[in-house]
Amino acid sequence: MANPTDLFGENVFSMKVMREHLSEATVKSLKETINAGKSLDASIADEVAEAMKEWAIGKGATHYTHWFQPLTGSTAEKHDSFIVPDGEGSVVCKFSGAELIQGEPDASSFPSGGLRATFEARGYTGWDPSSPAFIKDNTLCIPTVFCGYHGEALDKKTPLLRSMKALDKQACRLGKLFGIKIKQKAFATLGAEQEYFLIDEELYNARLDLQQTGRTLFGSCPAKHQQMEDHYFGAIKTRVLAFMEELDAELWRMGVPSKTRHNEVAPAQFEMAPVFEELNLAVDHNMIAMEVLRKTAERHGLVCLLHEKPYAGVNGSGKHNNWSLCGPDGKNWLSPGDNPHENAKFITMICALIKAVDTHADLLRSTVATAGNDHRLGANEAPPAIISIFLGDQLTDIIEQIEKGGAKSSKAGGSINLGVDTLPTLPRGNTDRNRTSPFAFTGNKFEFRAVGSNQSCAGSNVVLNTIVTEALDEICTRLEADVKAGKDFNVALQAVLSGIIKKHKRILFNGDNYTAAWTAEAEKRGLPNVKKTPEALEAFTTPKAAKLFSKYGVLTEKELHSRHEIYKETYEKVIEIEAGVMITMVKTMIIPAVLAAQGELAATIETVKACKGKTAGSQTMLKAICDGTEVLFKAVSALENAHGAAKLIAGMSKVRVAVDALEKMVPEQFWPVPSYAEMLFMM
Ligand code: ADP
Ligand code: MG
Repeated sequence: MANPTDLFGENVFSMKVMREHLSEATVKSLKETINAGKSLDASIADEVAEAMKEWAIGKGATHYTHWFQPLTGSTAEKHDSFIVPDGEGSVVCKFSGAELIQGEPDASSFPSGGLRATFEARGYTGWDPSSPAFIKDNTLCIPTVFCGYHGEALDKKTPLLRSMKALDKQACRLGKLFGIKIKQKAFATLGAEQEYFLIDEELYNARLDLQQTGRTLFGSCPAKHQQMEDHYFGAIKTRVLAFMEELDAELWRMGVPSKTRHNEVAPAQFEMAPVFEELNLAVDHNMIAMEVLRKTAERHGLVCLLHEKPYAGVNGSGKHNNWSLCGPDGKNWLSPGDNPHENAKFITMICALIKAVDTHADLLRSTVATAGNDHRLGANEAPPAIISIFLGDQLTDIIEQIEKGGAKSSKAGGSINLGVDTLPTLPRGNTDRNRTSPFAFTGNKFEFRAVGSNQSCAGSNVVLNTIVTEALDEICTRLEADVKAGKDFNVALQAVLSGIIKKHKRILFNGDNYTAAWTAEAEKRGLPNVKKTPEALEAFTTPKAAKLFSKYGVLTEKELHSRHEIYKETYEKVIEIEAGVMITMVKTMIIPAVLAAQGELAATIETVKACKGKTAGSQTMLKAICDGTEVLFKAVSALENAHGAAKLIAGMSKVRVAVDALEKMVPEQFWPVPSYAEMLFMM
């Protein structure tokens, strides 16, 4: 195996590479853009472009592309070669600053949700220097934003960057109130744990449903699947390990800090987790990781399934979105500090999150609303559609004391330190775990567990950043006014935090989120429980959401509505495609197979009858198959006549029940598609 330190960042135009290839002044200017969030100095673009091109060509690149993230949820690229004819039958390679900074892909086919009329269908890509350029497929990829003619955000990166800026501003404001020296911009950090399934390529190719919808539309679960939990953290099989080794090497080359790999709960399910990074970079890296997962699998005769629920009856795949805030002092503000002063800031952050998540639970829920994730959320393997926060016993105890007027002791026992009057020394290394919570505090970060495995993390983090921004803004406004009015800071802080806890503590829940008792309790508390995507997406259309996003300059009302429209349409299209594939498979594969089995069985019965005169058992079997086939005929015809997502889903569910029942009766050699047992256990 190659040494990770040699591989890491080999294909990235990193700060280290920049130092080698650029003048000191240019590096300094770029660093200010990247680290301090200053706007880009266009006069350095030519020098950077030239250096990038030379470096990339030296590594075998022939093309460059602006790499962006349209609202389809995937990444987009259009390659241009570096060549320019020199007029004498040869070419030279060129790449200008203008080409680096701005592009104009023909964008008319990307969804805009009404943001763009066809007469001004142009879209523009703009360089995002905070995410370094990298080489993929012999192509220099330049991370970019993607906007319309008037600057309308047509992508996922633009609002993410805007939300990071808004969060930075409010974090600095809070930092000032706490007397913190502002050393750098504040930014959210993200570690995105990525779950996935692997399947043998041949089996995959035999399933039209997997190929076209990413999930199996039929298949009865085998008797043994994940009950024994013998796959989780089990020894990794040789074939999978070979895949994982190549995956890690490839990710490291592209600067993705892949850290953890292991078997997941379901058979043939696995996970990759990176070391956390600055949010924008981490989102880009997760997009790269999903692509590298797919491509590496291909080279191993495998297919990587990123769908949220490829197989019914076993666990689906999610993406744990570990979020924290690195303050302007360079410290993790969700990590309990070394002294009471830092702890006060930590508790303020916890309260800001409580306030933010309770106020906008509907929005957070809407960011994970997709057709695929609907199969997973609330399916007793993933958090329910009810958003609540897990804090663990110790922190909950402290929060409860603050609510009552000031914490006097920490449950952990340790001594009380009242340096900031009312806040105790906090226990470090909070190791409480609650796997059932959708939004769990895990010691130094919050883990949002409802994100789907196939989704970009951008959407959820745009919302997280913005709602925390609003909470911090409101907290700062109160504190600044109180301090100005001559109130003692600690007294003022205590009052603000206590007020927040009183108002928003209904969002706190440390128990088992999978129980019916919690569903009932959450209802009593008035917490929203939005089970399906169409309803969940409505959160984008509320005046509350419009006010929030426009106030902090993250999304205009028009941009917000465009997202609602696109996500709703995507949802409907997915359901229509699934229904179409299902009908095709039933009519061209399942029914012919079942009829063939019937024919053979009927012939056997005749032959046996001729020699023995008695065939009761076989006749019962034949009758059951015939009855099942009739049920299927009816179900599929109903599905063909169904319209609208809700009716299609209900219709598909009936077809599936009929097909799965037949699968259990029809002899294996007749069944036209690989079974769950083959797909899940031949890995
Ligand atoms: P698990 O949740 O499976 O117990 P870990 O505790 O190892 O796993 O962490 C999961 C993820 O959380 C990793 O990707 C890790 O980098 C990330 N993480 C750790 N600290 C932070 C932080 N301050 N901000 C964001 N993500 C973090
Ligand atoms: Mg985790």
